[in-house]
Amino acid sequence: MKYEVVLGLGSNRSFVSEGTEIEPPQILEKACRRLSSLISDIRLSSVYQTEPMYVEDQPRFYNMAVSGFFDGEPLELLDGIQLIEADYGRCREHERRFGERSLDIDIELFSDMCIKSARLEIPHPRLCERAFILVPLLEILPFCADIKNGAFYERCLRKTGQSGVKYFCGPFTF
Ligand code: ADP
Ligand code: MG
Repeated sequence: MKYEVVLGLGSNRSFVSEGTEIEPPQILEKACRRLSSLISDIRLSSVYQTEPMYVEDQPRFYNMAVSGFFDGEPLELLDGIQLIEADYGRCREHERRFGERSLDIDIELFSDMCIKSARLEIPHPRLCERAFILVPLLEILPFCADIKNGAFYERCLRKTGQSGVKYFCGPFTF
């Protein structure tokens, strides 16, 4: 069964691969390429440069959202995105909570499912307080076939404000 999903991506730390340093925007681009083999009819938002939340003494983040269709169950998608995170240097054992990371991929929405388990909470529990994901999510939501709660997320964004979220570049094309 195929489900429409929305993912949030973030990066604020470069990653060294085979002696070459890959900067955050490039990590996002490479992650999107990888996601396109997991998700069909993939649509990408623009990339935004955002002020860090929760832990402020760290570099700005680059954030974006992705939507598309996933043929499988939520935990299978979580396994898939965690493999991609690990391939781009994500190492939870050596980082502080909400601190620097080369790649974070969160499942924001998975069709209209509500899930609360030890490994997975959907919708993402902090989606409504995060302008850095609400802005890119609202950019692609009008194009989503099955997810229609844009007015609700508009209200969330009015509450958070969006002063810490700056447009960086248009959607990657590939
Ligand atoms: P965060 O994204 O909150 O900064 P992590 O990326 O380290 O932190 O995620 C910590 C754990 O959150 C993951 O190992 C995963 O099991 C869990 N998790 C719960 N809900 C979600 C979700 N909707 N998307 C991604 N991970 C989730
Ligand atoms: Mg995460």
